[in-house]
Amino acid sequence: MLIDIHSHLDMCKDIKKIIDNAKKNNVGIVLNCGVDIKSNKKTLELSENFKEVKAALGIYPADGLKLSESEIGSEIDFIKKNREKVKAIGEVGMDLHHIKLLGKQKEIFEKFIRLAKELNKPLIVHSRKAEEETVKLLERHNCKKVIMHCFSGNKELVKRIIKNKWFLSIPCIVKYSEHFQNIVKIAPIEQLFCETDSPFLHPDKKRNNEPSNIIEAYKKIAEIKSLSMKEAERSIEENYIRLFG
Ligand SMILES: [Zn+2]
Repeated sequence: MLIDIHSHLDMCKDIKKIIDNAKKNNVGIVLNCGVDIKSNKKTLELSENFKEVKAALGIYPADGLKLSESEIGSEIDFIKKNREKVKAIGEVGMDLHHIKLLGKQKEIFEKFIRLAKELNKPLIVHSRKAEEETVKLLERHNCKKVIMHCFSGNKELVKRIIKNKWFLSIPCIVKYSEHFQNIVKIAPIEQLFCETDSPFLHPDKKRNNEPSNIIEAYKKIAEIKSLSMKEAERSIEENYIRLFG
């Protein structure tokens, strides 16, 4: 079974068809990452309606800035209340691409780090253009269960992530992206996942990516690691079992 560890099906059209297509293509698990209050609700709904869909709930850095402290607080309560249905906390993190300052987004991220630790769930982490600050903060909180999503940091940071025993999720654009090919070269298969980030990051630079395209990331990982597709598939499934229990 193939696993898409980072998707936003709630932003996709014709979800039913997309999930059927995923099933036909051997995709057994799609972890859907909520990004705001509405998307978290939708993510839970999807996980109740489709057994392939698992729920990760969180607040995306830019969306967090639009919320008041009490709104963030009640969303954290909502996640706690639904802890049985929630597989991970994410998409959370920090972003210096769209936002200029760390300030408030750092405070919000730390709330979600504490939540993940309290619930003992993995964190699905966004770190665009704030890679070093994000790694440092996760280290300071002594986080163990971490998946760095679509990580664009340098080789030294990738090595730190590997040393910390965290995971890296590799997008389908690894098909042509030298940066992600290099990550696959230096990270052990035991610390890798594959992600589509649907509807974004289409492997052929088209619009509307979907989980069935996850095979493109697996193919490239198998090629770089000199594994058969079955071996790559099994290793990543074992990673999932180890991290999510
Ligand atoms: Zn995402």
